Amino acid sequence: MSAKLETILAAARDHARDVILPNVDAWNANKAWPRSASDKAGEAGLTGLYAPEELGGQGLSLSEGIQVYEQLGLGDGAYAFALSMHNICTFAGCGYGTDAFKAKWARDLTSGRKLANFALTEPQSGSDPMKMYTRATINGDGTWTISGSKAWVSLASEADIYFTVVKTSDAPGHKDMAMIAIPADAPGISFGPRYDTPSYNFLPLAEMYFNEVVVSEENIILPIGQGLQGSLMAIDIARVSIASGCCGLMQAALDTALSYSKNRKMFGGKNIELDGIQWMLGEVATDLEVSRLLYRKAAEALGTPEGPLMAAHAKRFVPDAAVKAANTCTQVLGGMGLLQPYGLDRLSRLAQMLRIVDGTTEISRVVIGRALQKRAAGLPDLPVPKGYGESDMRDTSVAAE
Ligand SMILES: Cc1cc2nc3c(=O)[nH]c(=O)nc-3n(C[C@H](O)[C@H](O)[C@H](O)COP(=O)(O)OP(=O)(O)OC[C@H]3O[C@@H](n4cnc5c(N)ncnc54)[C@H](O)[C@@H]3O)c2cc1C
Repeated sequence: MSAKLETILAAARDHARDVILPNVDAWNANKAWPRSASDKAGEAGLTGLYAPEELGGQGLSLSEGIQVYEQLGLGDGAYAFALSMHNICTFAGCGYGTDAFKAKWARDLTSGRKLANFALTEPQSGSDPMKMYTRATINGDGTWTISGSKAWVSLASEADIYFTVVKTSDAPGHKDMAMIAIPADAPGISFGPRYDTPSYNFLPLAEMYFNEVVVSEENIILPIGQGLQGSLMAIDIARVSIASGCCGLMQAALDTALSYSKNRKMFGGKNIELDGIQWMLGEVATDLEVSRLLYRKAAEALGTPEGPLMAAHAKRFVPDAAVKAANTCTQVLGGMGLLQPYGLDRLSRLAQMLRIVDGTTEISRVVIGRALQKRAAGLPDLPVPKGYGESDMRDTSVAAE
């Protein structure tokens, strides 16, 4: 591990311990994004992970930077998620943005002075982005006029710029899709009422409306034709980042259970001495080890042809393991596991949320299923056992048609 990565991971761990954990319950009670905390994350180098050093970033590779969310996830998975989306947008802006965009925005984004988020989902299109409507019309002077609405926008009305996926024609399909960065103060932008979530209340979520919003062509991040493909790459990074954050969540749940269990007296000994409790905690520990290996392997694969499949494996497995870990650890504490100060209920709700965001567990299964179909097509046909199905008039053949 490079010295730089070690420093950043230590900064993320300190940020979780000193900034997130002591305050997260108050943030949730206040229902407001903790801007002073994300400012501190910026000062600690956590908001420009993959951006080049000459633009104020840390210059880490994806596989290095993604490990930061495991540390932040020790504090809170929703906070880690929001910073991961900011980092992905910053990576896109610093990597694919125009020179004019970089001159105007790059240093503010890498320093965390300004926050970015990604807007793809619409009320009628979540898992199926091909149903997107938000439309950009290209004007004679090169500016784009955008009308439409997005849903489930994180950091709604808090971010300073939204990396928005738009269609540029009425043609069905994705060949006309592009991504454009829309500043929050552009005339014609408004937000719906905040969604009422049962937890992670400090993360503002709402719909976002574009009423003939005019944006300079300097803000085009992915040109026409690359909007969907580029977004899918961004989502792959997000999926692995979520798996990384889930590992922090699992570690936090496990450590809470261990801290409690080692002192809880029962049946003449301690809770942790019971075989049944050790088996429960042992399963969590194994799932955590597997999850860590999986997300790190998936992070290494990003940008290669294996990237989307590995990201799907990580997003399918790890948040499910986190749900199981948070619930198991709650169970280990008995009734005490339900009480506020231990935070296990918060971890359970976060883990469930992380199963949905950036492509649900089921969509990951769809991606894996398609890869398996391709593999099946390349495998030899199995011979049908002699005599099998001969008395049946239905077609029982397993051979390829
Ligand atoms: C906390 C939070 C923050 C978010 N932040 C953002 C953000 O900042 N920007 C953004 O663009 N989006 C954001 N999202 C949206 C998120 O990415 C979507 O919620 C997600 O893609 C699922 O879409 P949906 O909610 O519309 O569910 P739907 O697409 O309506 O799916 C409903 C159900 O059907 C299942 N399903 C769908 N297709 C299949 C299939 N082929 N086979 C089997 N089951 C299937 C799904 O898994 C799900 O269980 C956020 C969501 C959450 C919860």
